[in-house]
Amino acid sequence: MERNVEIDKISDGKRYGANDLVKVGCDDCRGCSACCHGMGDSIVLDPMDVYRLEKKLGKTMEEILLAGNVALRVVDGVILPHLKMTEQSDRCSFLNEEGRCSIHDARPGFCRMFPLGRLYEDGTFSYFLQVNECPKENKTKVKVRRWLDTPELGKYEAFTTKWHYYLKEKQNAARESEDDAFRQQISMNILKLFYLLPYDGNTDFYTQFAARMELAADKH
Ligand code: SF4
Ligand code: SF4
Repeated sequence: MERNVEIDKISDGKRYGANDLVKVGCDDCRGCSACCHGMGDSIVLDPMDVYRLEKKLGKTMEEILLAGNVALRVVDGVILPHLKMTEQSDRCSFLNEEGRCSIHDARPGFCRMFPLGRLYEDGTFSYFLQVNECPKENKTKVKVRRWLDTPELGKYEAFTTKWHYYLKEKQNAARESEDDAFRQQISMNILKLFYLLPYDGNTDFYTQFAARMELAADKH
């Protein structure tokens, strides 16, 4: 409930589904890259983001971490990767000199959604609009589905839901435990299985994710 109050303060108070129209159209971000600057460690990556990045860059997650495009931090008790801003100019390292995203077709889900967010409730989620985040004026209405620019959106949404609730369960277990070794084990299991074990870019992501979820279930 408290979370709803917070979200209502930063949103237009509406909830959106994939087929709804929402006022986010920003003329293809022409002349603006504001949401690729100063994002701190807020662009947290999920397994699909890693699959896309590995395929696009031809690198493993370990190599992407070593290259400094991504860093790790504790998110609600579990260590997760996030896009790293450069130290010199506090911008995403994938932003090119022209102020455009150099990995546009493989950009993370967070970037695809912005300025939309997801609100998880009752085992599912809806989208909400963060009204103060994108400075472009005279925005146009766009269908959420089109804005997300994500193939097989139904499968993707099913994956994000499953991932969210799986992670939530692990985060709760880590936060509630006072056993350092147990907490560390939770993080290492998640990192190794869903992030560091390279994905096969020639094979469907969802099949690989389902197989890893089965392995994760066997571990606990
Ligand atoms: S802040 Fe808005 S207009 Fe600017 S790059 Fe982000 S989404 Fe595009
Ligand atoms: S990945 Fe692309 S869209 Fe996302 S913050 Fe970096 S430059 Fe911007």
